[in-house]
Amino acid sequence: MFDTKMTVKKNIAILGSTGSIGTQTLDVIRANPDAFAVEVLTGNGNADLLIKQAIEFDPNTVVVADESKYQYVKDALSSHDIKVFGGNKAITEVVQMDNIDIVLAAIVGYAGLESTLSAINAGKQIALANKETLVVAGDIVTALAKQKGVNLYPVDSEHSAIFQCLVGEFHNPIEKIYLTASGGPFRGKDSAFLSSVKKEQALKHPNWEMGAKITIDSASLMNKGLEVIEAKWLFGLKPEQIDVIVHPQSIVHSLVQFTDGSMKAQMGLPDMKLPIQYAIGYPDRMKSDFPRFDFMKYPHLTFEQADTKTFRNLALAFDAMNKGGNAPCVLNAANEIAVAAFLKDKIGFLQMSDVVEKSLQTVSHIAKPSYEDYVETDKETRRVAIALI
Ligand code: NAD
Ligand code: MG
Repeated sequence: MFDTKMTVKKNIAILGSTGSIGTQTLDVIRANPDAFAVEVLTGNGNADLLIKQAIEFDPNTVVVADESKYQYVKDALSSHDIKVFGGNKAITEVVQMDNIDIVLAAIVGYAGLESTLSAINAGKQIALANKETLVVAGDIVTALAKQKGVNLYPVDSEHSAIFQCLVGEFHNPIEKIYLTASGGPFRGKDSAFLSSVKKEQALKHPNWEMGAKITIDSASLMNKGLEVIEAKWLFGLKPEQIDVIVHPQSIVHSLVQFTDGSMKAQMGLPDMKLPIQYAIGYPDRMKSDFPRFDFMKYPHLTFEQADTKTFRNLALAFDAMNKGGNAPCVLNAANEIAVAAFLKDKIGFLQMSDVVEKSLQTVSHIAKPSYEDYVETDKETRRVAIALI
């Protein structure tokens, strides 16, 4: 038998290669050397890891966003045929290189917006981990992607689940979706308990190992709030079509309900390598040796309502989405400041929601923001939020 399937290597740029998503993407690529070639790696603070990755994967170009580390990285790679640049502007430029097929956007926070937009502008396919990009400027990002014929392949596990449920159903309208949430380490706790929790407790997620910012967001349910807004833009949904359900085992990764009442779910053990591999391997399902689900280890899959009274961030995110315009951009910027302050022990866990709520009340609303409006809103919100801390 002849195998008629052509294997064409996809050339990948990994933005944020030193982070949790970035390193797991390299794990997937290491296991599938015939399917992918690494063209670009970028990192920020962890220069040594970036250098190690560059030596292993031999990309065309490496960018270290932190310019103070540029000379160090350049010297370390001087005997290799790898171009080295420093600064965020360089990331925005190199994503447009001709030989890149797909850009995996895994920088954390607002910092990932500009490079993702630049890649879309150059017509690169996007595997999107950086959910903040869609929270901040989902209208601009999705309109540009449509105009350029670019697909945004979700890496976020819930959105990957929805996408996997929709394959073969793109012509069928969605009635609603359910995003599942683990509930994080503080599920079932009350405000009295939360008022005294420390970052060490919040950084212990029951099911996932992730970067610090998203781990805190998961504990405060802001992550789910950001994901609700991300889903609105990725799947073109109205706010009332998006629901959140707490599912502590993180086995059902999300669900779609169609107009005939039928529901599809995507399931599996919690492992980000699976949605990463699906996003960069689409439309193929590539073989993997990830551990398989065992029903006997999970005799009970449970579901419960999210507690939005205690975990106010989720309610604030729904409010911001309903308000629209620059409100989600305000929500995101205030949250980035609040999380950074919490990680430095400057504010308590519950105060993070206070900072977000007050910022939403203070920063002036713009109903139809331009890109420049979003940039200005982000800056102004950071000033407002810092003043609140
Ligand atoms: P992380 O903190 O582990 O890694 C972030 C990466 O971005 C690092 O490579 C870092 O060097 C780089 N970076 C940070 N600040 C930068 C800046 N100012 N300029 C340029 N580069 C910068 O974060 P992560 O957990 O890998 O998350 C990355 C993104 O993926 C986030 O948007 C997160 O919400 C999303 N995501 C992560 C997971 C997960 O399991 N980790 C799951 C779903 C979605
Ligand atoms: Mg997620």
